[in-house]
Amino acid sequence: MRIFDPHIHMTSRTTDDYEAMHAAGVRALVEPAFWLGQPRTSPASFFDYFDALLGWEPFRAAQYGITHHCTIALNPKEANDPRCTPVLDALPRYLVKDNVVAVGEIGYDSMTPAEDTALATQLQLAADHDLPALVHTPHRDKLAGLRRTLDVVRESALPVDRVLIDHLNETTVKEAKDAGSWLGFSVYPDTKMDEDRMVEILRTFGTEKVLVNSAADWGKSDPLKTRKVAEAMLKAGFDDDDVDLVLWRNPVAFYSLSGRLQLDAPPTDAATHEGNSILRGGA
Ligand SMILES: [Zn+2]
Repeated sequence: MRIFDPHIHMTSRTTDDYEAMHAAGVRALVEPAFWLGQPRTSPASFFDYFDALLGWEPFRAAQYGITHHCTIALNPKEANDPRCTPVLDALPRYLVKDNVVAVGEIGYDSMTPAEDTALATQLQLAADHDLPALVHTPHRDKLAGLRRTLDVVRESALPVDRVLIDHLNETTVKEAKDAGSWLGFSVYPDTKMDEDRMVEILRTFGTEKVLVNSAADWGKSDPLKTRKVAEAMLKAGFDDDDVDLVLWRNPVAFYSLSGRLQLDAPPTDAATHEGNSILRGGA
C-alpha cells in the first residue's frame, strides 16, 4: 500500500514518526506552513521557518525514504498580528521555489477583516504563480466559515477546481463538493473526523477528489491516521484501487496542478544509512 499524506506538520514530529510512517506505507507528504503555537514576533522568524520547510525537513524525510514537499503562506491565525503581516510582501520569493506545490495553509481562523485581506491576497498570489491553494476551514462555526471561504474563492482569480478545502466534515462536505473544490479531511484521534465517519462520508459522497490527511502537528494527533483510514475502507468493502485513489492518486493529482511535484528516485537503503551518519556527524 502506498500512501501520500497531503497535510502533516513534520517540523513538530520525531524520527520515530518518520520511521513508523514509512513502515505504514507513507512514501510522500506535503507539509503546509502553519502556526507554530508560540506566536512569532517578526517576519524573519517566518523566513527561517520557510527555509527549514524547503531545506532541512525534506532532507530529514529523505533519511526515512519519504519525499517531502511543502506549501508556503502566512497562516490565518497570525494574519491577525500586524508584526507578521509584512510576510505577505515576501511570499513571492518563496512561491517560485521548486519544492513549493501550493499556497497554504490559508483560510479563516476567527473570520476577521485582517483574515479577509490575507486570504484574498494569497489566493491572488496563487493565481499569479500558477499554484493551487490549500485552504483550511475554521474549527469553530464551520459552515459559516466554509460559505465565506467559498465566496472569497469565487471572487478571486483562482478557479475553485485549483483549491483544496481542508478540515471538512459531515456539515460542510456537500457544499464544498457542489462548489467543485478538492475535498480534504483531517482525521484526528479525539476531535474532527475519525476513521469510521470518514468511511461513511466516502460511502455517501464517493472517492472523487477526496484527500485524507493526518494533519499531525504539535497537538494530540496521529501521523498513522492515513493508514488507519485505508484499513477502515478495506474493512468496509472498498477495494485496493479505491484506497489507492484516495490515499495516493488524488493527492498526487491535486499537487501536480503546481507542475512541480517530483515523486521519482526514492532514496535507496544505502543512501538512507549514509544520510543518518551525515546527520549524526553534523549534529
Ligand atoms: Zn495544518
